[in-house]
Amino acid sequence: MSTRRLYYTDASCLKFEATVASCQPLADADGTAPRFAVTLDQTAFYPTSGGQPFDTGRLGPAAVCDVRDDEDADAVLHVTDQPITAGTRVRGVIDEARRFDHRQQHTGQHILSAVFDARYGVRTESFHLGTESSSIDLARAVTPDELTGAVAEANRVVWDDRPVTVRFVEADEAARLPLRKAPARTGRLRLIEIADCDLSACGGTHVDRTGGVGIIAASHAERFRGGTRVTFLCGSRVLRQFALWRDALAATGRVLSVSPEELAPAIERLQHEQRQMQKQMRGLQEQLAVFEAEALAASAERAPGHAVVVRVMPGLDAVALKAQAAALVAREGLAAALFSSDTPALVVVARHPSVPVDAGAVVKALHAAFGGKGGGRPDLAQGGGLTAAPDALVAAARALLLG
Ligand SMILES: [Zn+2]
Repeated sequence: MSTRRLYYTDASCLKFEATVASCQPLADADGTAPRFAVTLDQTAFYPTSGGQPFDTGRLGPAAVCDVRDDEDADAVLHVTDQPITAGTRVRGVIDEARRFDHRQQHTGQHILSAVFDARYGVRTESFHLGTESSSIDLARAVTPDELTGAVAEANRVVWDDRPVTVRFVEADEAARLPLRKAPARTGRLRLIEIADCDLSACGGTHVDRTGGVGIIAASHAERFRGGTRVTFLCGSRVLRQFALWRDALAATGRVLSVSPEELAPAIERLQHEQRQMQKQMRGLQEQLAVFEAEALAASAERAPGHAVVVRVMPGLDAVALKAQAAALVAREGLAAALFSSDTPALVVVARHPSVPVDAGAVVKALHAAFGGKGGGRPDLAQGGGLTAAPDALVAAARALLLG
């Protein structure tokens, strides 16, 4: 039995009476809670279709948690959390905030798409109405100026408060009308007209006058399948997003003690200062490495023909380890293997040109034993990802360097 769709002619209708035509347990209920598919002789509930999500609300004692369009039967399926006996008269109540939000977003989309079409000759390929934001996919890439121009023009249409009207026509009459997009359906068509802006075949819910959209804002644009995906917000969603961004900007501004307009240069300044400090710190580490090298060299173990320093160096990163090793092996006859104290550990192996040791081979042997990867030249090699206790690393490196 087909369902009479009250939302087709009155999108403001949020309460209605209907007779239950059928009620079936839902076979595809994926959750643990049982679900039922209820059809009615008439409904004001909007089923998911054309990019617009379903309405929620109540049907008699039951909660309506999904609404689907059974196009073959021309019926609307209300998915409920309880069964309702066929033949019962029920009262349907639609969640007002969700419905109005969808009407705002959907009408905003018509206006934005129509303006892109008329002003820049860009077709809208698809529309998605999401829970946080909505998007249209435009057939070609648009420039930032075109986007700004389209949003400004779309808002002029909103503030003109033009009437949004619904009418029904047969397919042959529709074929003679300047519809923005060729209709996907055949037979009798429902047309939405926004005065001097848009004429489209659409089954969705819209506001009665464009002023009801409130405001249209584009929040993001990105390249998508050779065109542009424009993410946008309408009405109350703009206000919500504004509050979110205002609070985030204010919090960041407080941390940096600047106004929102000064945030970008303030962050750039901080980044510059950080780079300068890093450079200074590297310089100091190198100077310190030269001093430390004196003490480390004094503790070197003697091997026939050369001496060896093998140490775990707490607090040193890869760059500092390398600087320390370089300072050490400036001494004739010295080779060094230095490890970081973290796990997995870093290693730097280096030697003075007078020492007949292959640093690269030592690093490779350490990785073969303890994992990780690295390598280098015979005089300087480094690696990372060594997974072993510091004592084991030191013992292995001593054995390799002392021969
Ligand atoms: Zn529509």
